[in-house]
Amino acid sequence: PLYTWIDKETCIACGVCGATAPEVFDYDDEGVAYSILDDNKGEMIVPEELEEDVLDAHESCPTESVKVIKRDFNQ
Ligand code: SF4
Repeated sequence: PLYTWIDKETCIACGVCGATAPEVFDYDDEGVAYSILDDNKGEMIVPEELEEDVLDAHESCPTESVKVIKRDFNQ
């Protein structure tokens, strides 16, 4: 399974990930992205039908802030 979260320290609020995966990423008041799946905790398995969007966002982020991992990295 895929998990995802945004590194908000390095996000430059460019708007790409939310355009690429609008069902997964949104922006806070300052335009910094976060995962709406689980409030950016990276704990929830990305629904299979959204995996491709998440991987696209991961590849498109200019600062490599869209983190994707294939296990629960909170364990
Ligand atoms: Fe931030 Fe990257 Fe998303 Fe742009 S694509 S808003 S830099 S996380």
